Amino acid sequence: MSGTPAARAAELRDALTRASHEYYVLDSPRLADAEYDRLFRELQRIEEEHPELRTPDSPTQRVGAAPASQLEKYEHLVPMLSLGNAFDDDELHAWETRLVRLAGDDVVRSGYTTELKIDGAAVSLTYRDGVLVNGATRGNGSIGEVVTSNIRTVRDVPLRLGKGAPAGTMEIRGEIYIPFSAFEEMNAARAREGDSLFANPRNAASGSLRQLDPAVTASRPLRFFGYAVAAPETQLPFQTQWEVLDALESWGVPVAPHRKRCRTIAEVFTWAHKLEHELRSSLDFAIDGGVVKVDSFRVQEELGVVGGREPRWAIARKFAPDIAETTLLAIEVNVGRTGALNPYAVLEPVEISGAIVKLATLHNEDFVTQRDLRVGDRVQVKRAGEVIPQVIAPVTTARTGAERPWSMPARCPRCNTPAIREEGEALSYCPNVACPGRRLEGLVHFASRGAMDIRGLSYARIEQLIDAGLVRDAADLYSLTPEQLLELEGYAAKSAGTLVKAIDASRSQPLSRLLYGLGIRHVGESAAQLLARHFGDLDSLAAAEADEISRIRGVGAVIAQAVSDFFADPSAREEIEKLRAAGVNFTEPRPQVTGTALAGKTVVVTGTLPTLSRKAATDLIEAHGGRVTSSVSKATSFVVAGEEAGGKLDRARALGVEIVDEAELLRRVAAGDS
Ligand code: NAD
Repeated sequence: MSGTPAARAAELRDALTRASHEYYVLDSPRLADAEYDRLFRELQRIEEEHPELRTPDSPTQRVGAAPASQLEKYEHLVPMLSLGNAFDDDELHAWETRLVRLAGDDVVRSGYTTELKIDGAAVSLTYRDGVLVNGATRGNGSIGEVVTSNIRTVRDVPLRLGKGAPAGTMEIRGEIYIPFSAFEEMNAARAREGDSLFANPRNAASGSLRQLDPAVTASRPLRFFGYAVAAPETQLPFQTQWEVLDALESWGVPVAPHRKRCRTIAEVFTWAHKLEHELRSSLDFAIDGGVVKVDSFRVQEELGVVGGREPRWAIARKFAPDIAETTLLAIEVNVGRTGALNPYAVLEPVEISGAIVKLATLHNEDFVTQRDLRVGDRVQVKRAGEVIPQVIAPVTTARTGAERPWSMPARCPRCNTPAIREEGEALSYCPNVACPGRRLEGLVHFASRGAMDIRGLSYARIEQLIDAGLVRDAADLYSLTPEQLLELEGYAAKSAGTLVKAIDASRSQPLSRLLYGLGIRHVGESAAQLLARHFGDLDSLAAAEADEISRIRGVGAVIAQAVSDFFADPSAREEIEKLRAAGVNFTEPRPQVTGTALAGKTVVVTGTLPTLSRKAATDLIEAHGGRVTSSVSKATSFVVAGEEAGGKLDRARALGVEIVDEAELLRRVAAGDS
């Protein structure tokens, strides 16, 4: 059968089904979207020419992929559909012609509403009498996953709709996304903590939304835009898509900017060109095109749905892909501050949507081997907005045989110490704490914004200080004098004085920042805060056993072991004594009132919360003006309940006291102080 349309269709179905699983279920696509779209269209074409080859399980007949997580399932009131694609004006024009054939001139009279096509994760939010009661992912279009507690942590999503929202049950559909700026920050923080990086904001948004633990979702910078309403049991007072968007806005639901009501398809062309070439670059979130919808609901109904998959009355106007082909000149390795060895691609410079790309991330060794990337390969490179360029895949058909497979060097490229890779970990490490590569990154981290926040101490200046032999570790910074700096290139009396002052000021940073700045493996900003608050001073923490540390809620065994290993290391001890001698603060101040979100509220905390220890929850509530008591009474404003909450929860129920989870507490604190 090889080479027949039937064989090719089967091959395409397999490839597309696999890709959908990787994309929707694992949040880890291996195929570029443009490549997926190309294969999809090829399958569509074969099925059009040979309708007998169209199987009910073909990806062309389905939406998304069946949900496969442990999350509870939700059946949508009205199916959530996919969209057909148009890649240029001609295809848009052909779409209008098809619609006019089906529904006559009413289509033209209706006109179109155009919107941004947000590249995020589709969700359906169920509101009953204006109150959010459920949140679900799209799943396979009919059945999605329940992610209500996660959705509640998204600040953009109204828990209660504003005035004018209809009574009864309705689903608001929209897209959860992560802005580029927040995505970059999040990935930078993950890199600092030695965690794996997200490939792009879409995967990060979708993965964050489908967490089993809402506290993880709450810590991710998720946002929401709404674009549709489904209410099969209620007569909604709208006649057009444009009115729906207006209504959503009036109820307090964010709607994406740059929507337009177009009277003709020519106006749609103009809007789409402007979107692709002007507006897109000004947005702080990813879009993968525009969506064009026939405005009138009556005409929409007449046009209906194709194959249970896509509405006829809407189409995605996709952009030319931000992908280019170039040569992979070399794979080099950078040493991170924790010793993580990060491979990156050195590329023959290539222009992708207006920027010259020379370097791209390769994440880790597995990324390179799984894709079989070889030095000398022609590779596809993608650049999306402000995100670090990515190598997608090699162009295997362009191979000449001269390409060389790559493997992670067995030794650290900076200090030649044998690298280690622990079982189950994706990253290899240089274990040498004195490695110059690690020292440089370690100092950059020490001075960074979330750590000691030493303004003016840039990467280049740190490199210069190390090269001049003035600084080996963080403590050395504190003995620098303006005179020493003046001997270096690029300093004047003023800049030397300013830098020494900034370094001096960092001596009084709280312990939590110092702990984070020390670059202990697995200790990110939040773990550093938990540790600092629990122990109060560095010496108590250094004296603690791993066991004791791991009993702090939210810390866990891995962090505890890493902390105890760090303090057992003689070179770390030495560095700490040097910092002490330099007069660096080793204590954490008691939390001050930082906000008023919970002013006047009396709160009871019960059960095990997913991330906050009892003390951390109490501190948080008090820091935001609330009072924490141990027993539930009528005077209790609300109860924060975690797992295995017992009698207090029963009493709260009996008294009708409001019960919330940790994610909701975090949300209230965040929402109330803004
Ligand atoms: P789609 O993303 O092309 O379009 C439908 C979706 O657009 C809707 O479900 C909705 O979530 C979203 N959307 C955003 N803004 C909207 C708006 N204003 N109005 C209406 N909808 C809006 O279709 P799809 O079925 O989600 O996915 C197919 C696409 O996903 C493919 O074209 C491909 O790009 C990508 N994909 C890639 C892989 C891969 O391996 N790379 C695998 C599967 C799918």
